[in-house]
Amino acid sequence: MGTYRIAAIPGDGIGKEVIAAGCQVLEHLASGHSDLTLEFEVFPWGSDAYLETGAMMPEDALDTLRGFDAIYFGSAGDPRVPDHISLWKLRLAICQGLDQYANIRPTRLLPGLSSPLKTGTPQTIDWFIVRENSEGEYSGAGGRVHQALPNEVGLDVSVITREGAERIQRFALDIARARPRKKLTFVTKSNAQRHAMVLWDDVFEEVTQDYPDVQTERVLVDAMAARFVTDPESIDTVVATNLHADVLSDLAAALSGSLGLAPTGNINPEREAPSMFEPIHGSAFDIMGHGSANPLGAIWSASLMLEHLGEKNAATQLLGAIERVTADGSSLPRDLGGQAGTDEVTGTVCDAL
Ligand code: ATP
Repeated sequence: MGTYRIAAIPGDGIGKEVIAAGCQVLEHLASGHSDLTLEFEVFPWGSDAYLETGAMMPEDALDTLRGFDAIYFGSAGDPRVPDHISLWKLRLAICQGLDQYANIRPTRLLPGLSSPLKTGTPQTIDWFIVRENSEGEYSGAGGRVHQALPNEVGLDVSVITREGAERIQRFALDIARARPRKKLTFVTKSNAQRHAMVLWDDVFEEVTQDYPDVQTERVLVDAMAARFVTDPESIDTVVATNLHADVLSDLAAALSGSLGLAPTGNINPEREAPSMFEPIHGSAFDIMGHGSANPLGAIWSASLMLEHLGEKNAATQLLGAIERVTADGSSLPRDLGGQAGTDEVTGTVCDAL
């Protein structure tokens, strides 16, 4: 147990509402542990700041963040600001600048909740999706030339490096090894993409030699999307490139109940810089200010943050409180079929703690 400095960046839209809720729950949790201290500093970065100052975050933001143990992030996205600015100048700038190259997305069907999958059989969903978070299709390599002319060209180049592939694949294999089923599904598209994806496959062939105890399988991304729906129980840990895992994990979130529930962490595994934890949903301007945003994705993300900080007991206690709220079912947010607003769900989690 110890003292941790957390940089909270609520960002845009409902990010502000769910991060406030998450901080409230974390403070409540810490108040029950005399040996756990969480010190929050809130940074008002995001689209409002951009509209006022022309920058989503200050120039020295990354240096500031390096002084913290972890970052607790809401969302970035605002209808008044082009998406490529709100995303690239804040969230991606932090992920890339702090080399948070591993994005983790645990997915579980929590007690009491039902999945839109209706196969008629009892279902268990307990997946752990590892997303490459620094290169691939979102590397930023490419360009636009001959703008506004008929021969205009736009290129986004998918970049896979041997080093980038190896480090994320080893990270995922380590996670698969630590889970009971010791199973990893490797997602690729090397049948259609002949260069970067083939390197992605080749590296996997090599690194799996060091993990004879982990059962691996190779699945094309399109087939994997179908597998999520038709055979969810066959899946445990998954590793995929940036774009593939981005899409698959939103599907996973929806299949496990709602986008509002799903947590994620952007991890710097070597701990050379702080890692960042956030709900996977975006700014959801359609419900902003209604007091109806589901805070459970942000609260589950806070549990991931505690686990990363080495506070396993506090993390498990927090996840247990979320599970009691979903199992009980009397205080569910609207996206999970209930009537409770953000404040009520947050209060119920605190009570469950
Ligand atoms: P962005 O552009 O920032 O990604 P978005 O509004 O396009 O945001 P999301 O916020 O990811 O996309 O979510 C899509 C929809 O799902 C929202 O419009 C909202 O109706 C619903 N939703 C997402 N998150 C939540 C939540 N925490 N609670 C309730 N509903 C949510």
